[in-house]
Amino acid sequence: MAKQEDQFKKVLSHAKEYGYVFQSSEIYDGLSAVYDYAQNGVELKKNIRDYWWKAMVQMHENIVGIDASILMHPTTWKASGHVDAFNDPLIDNKDSKKRYRADVLVEDYCAKIEGKIDKEVAKAAKRFGDAFNKEEFVSTNGRVVGYQEKINSILSRMASSLEKEDLADVKLLIEELGIADPLTGSKNWTEVKQFNLMFGTQIGASAESSTQVYLRPETAQGIFVNFLNVQKTGRMKIPFGIAQTGKAFRNEIVARQFIFRMREFEQMEMQFFVKPGTQKEWYTNWKETRMKWHLSLGMGADNYRFHDHEKLAHYADAASDIEFKFPFGFKELEGIHSRTDFDLKAHEEHSGKKLQYFDHEENKSYTPFVVETSIGLDRMFLAVFSNSLKEEELENGTTRTVLKLPGVLAPFKAAVLPLVKKDGLPEVAREILNDLKWDFNVFYDEKDAVGKRYRRQDANGTPFCITVDHQTLEDKTVTIRHRDTMEQKRVAIAELKDIIKAEVAVKTWLQKM
Ligand code: ATP
Repeated sequence: MAKQEDQFKKVLSHAKEYGYVFQSSEIYDGLSAVYDYAQNGVELKKNIRDYWWKAMVQMHENIVGIDASILMHPTTWKASGHVDAFNDPLIDNKDSKKRYRADVLVEDYCAKIEGKIDKEVAKAAKRFGDAFNKEEFVSTNGRVVGYQEKINSILSRMASSLEKEDLADVKLLIEELGIADPLTGSKNWTEVKQFNLMFGTQIGASAESSTQVYLRPETAQGIFVNFLNVQKTGRMKIPFGIAQTGKAFRNEIVARQFIFRMREFEQMEMQFFVKPGTQKEWYTNWKETRMKWHLSLGMGADNYRFHDHEKLAHYADAASDIEFKFPFGFKELEGIHSRTDFDLKAHEEHSGKKLQYFDHEENKSYTPFVVETSIGLDRMFLAVFSNSLKEEELENGTTRTVLKLPGVLAPFKAAVLPLVKKDGLPEVAREILNDLKWDFNVFYDEKDAVGKRYRRQDANGTPFCITVDHQTLEDKTVTIRHRDTMEQKRVAIAELKDIIKAEVAVKTWLQKM
């Protein structure tokens, strides 16, 4: 646990030190759970968004994008169920005055039991060596099976109490499990209450004529209300999808995990409209496709798992999360939901407008069913960033900090470094830079010894360093150094573009899907 916390602290300080993420309005001591992306962070975030957009929109001829407004007609949120049901169960500790999500306290308790399972598995793996069969072990070892049964019974009781709105039982569960305030150890809890997560505001000039509106808590509804407009003007045939990326706002009760849970964040969502009855097939299909997208980035299959939901949201007939192993354990990164025809039907009812699709093959109209894939851009940023940050021991006994970002996502693809600041080397370096920058984001650095500059680029995540030296003036060759292997090669300037492209092009990575 301490190791995990240390790793997470390193992630936070590296993100700040290297210009990836700053606290919002830091000079005023920040605003809780609100962050700004800095000069490198904005590039990484844009590259993740592009990688998603290309995979979802550009590579699918039946998926198109939109960009809807953050403010929407307030009835949207009545229809979607957010006004009445977008709540989290909160609980306060009377001694520490700290506020928690009751369900998260219980989930964290279960994560601790899961930690015990992991320990048993690690011990057994060591004992049995190559002959170790993890699946068999976890399904037959008495202690592990007992732990797993305990987790299942706790989670299913909580799911059923939340479903029935039996908040008293959620509190009872917390008491029975002896869950204490993680910060102070106090078990002096208030009752569990529901808390609506939407931010409200007013639209209009005067108090009398103003209307209550909300900052959207998800981007999906902007897609649903535009469904027919897009279908008609784009002459889309079912099955088809509408994708969107954009800001969403939630007044989260507990927001203590950096950019994992923010009050203002960005989502990348795609709603896929299908013929009723085919939704299960498409749901399975999108689960697979989305997992392949994650795996294409090469961050390790062991770091992902599906978590199929027991408690389904009011609109869903199936739901699963893709969980990622963050520095603080496995947590939701993306949700894949089979949303039925709930949203379109609800908007038909509240707006009085038909939102149906006429199927020429079947010669009838129907309300399509929807399968949604929804991923948090900031969470994806944290997954990529934390997974890429490594401390490496080198052969000469020193260590280096290296940010092994997938090349396609790295803010800068290469840094051009004149060996010395004289003899015409900076001029040649700038010529190379000026040529490369038409195709890639390239960095120029001439300050300090070249070894130091290499380290700086390693920590910054730049895949290549290109060094211009005196030989360059004679034969138009440079040294290109690879971030991960630290291997250096002498190549012709004319070859640089192809070398960089082979490593960082979207195609190189997406083709792995
Ligand atoms: P959680 O259970 O963690 O609160 P959720 O199930 O409410 O998440 P969804 O409504 O399914 O999340 O939203 C889809 C995605 O949006 C999530 O998988 C996550 O990546 C992202 N997301 C949701 N809430 C936040 C937040 N407060 N900050 C950052 N990303 C978020």
